[in-house]
Amino acid sequence: MKVKFDYHVHSIYSKNKHGKSTIEENVQKAIELGLEEIAITDHGPKHILYGIKNKNIVKAKNEVIQLRKKYPNIKILYGIEANILNFQGDIDINEEDLEIYDIVLCGYHLGVLYSSFKDFWGFIFLNYFSKFSKKLKEKQIERNTNAVVNALNKNKIYILTHPGDKILVDIDKIAFAAQENNTILEINSHHNHLNAEEIKIASKYDVKFAIGSDSHIKDNIGSFENALREVKKAGIDIRRIVNIA
Ligand SMILES: [Zn+2]
Ligand SMILES: [Zn+2]
Repeated sequence: MKVKFDYHVHSIYSKNKHGKSTIEENVQKAIELGLEEIAITDHGPKHILYGIKNKNIVKAKNEVIQLRKKYPNIKILYGIEANILNFQGDIDINEEDLEIYDIVLCGYHLGVLYSSFKDFWGFIFLNYFSKFSKKLKEKQIERNTNAVVNALNKNKIYILTHPGDKILVDIDKIAFAAQENNTILEINSHHNHLNAEEIKIASKYDVKFAIGSDSHIKDNIGSFENALREVKKAGIDIRRIVNIA
């Protein structure tokens, strides 16, 4: 098995030392591993703790442009891991921003400046309380799923990161929306979602998968062991995974 590319890599621009390696260190590591491509995908700006500062978005892009000249043997993509901001499916990048990015990943995260108090209440408190009520749990799965499906329908998302992490969702409905929007579903090696069971459910649809290391330090780039274990358990054809051969 060969890792061809890793499209989920954080750099020091994921603030508060959440990302530990510079873009260049990440690129060097990817070259050392023989990767054909790497995408730098720091957290979207509305992540309160870890989001890229607005002023750094262009700075980081320019760094990538310079590094492409210095390391012509690897393809370096400049991307972002955007955040879902509300139940309507808005995310923290807009149409104009799309010109900056070569690739847009998006996922649900905690610690985000959600659009309104109602969204904050719905995502954080109701999901917490749903642990204690079967009825509320069912309702929350429906609400959470709609938020993700709306995000897929509303935005051009290339990869949906770690579906099912942090909130309960209906993977079946999300996989259908991913199929309709041509969005790749991530098998995240760090967060263990999609897991084997979720991969099986999603694989009923005409969707592709990408393994993401979600590395926050260069040494984790291309480390796909956990994800590959889940893939094996799920028993899907590995040709459905875009970034391994
Ligand atoms: Zn994430
Ligand atoms: Zn990430």
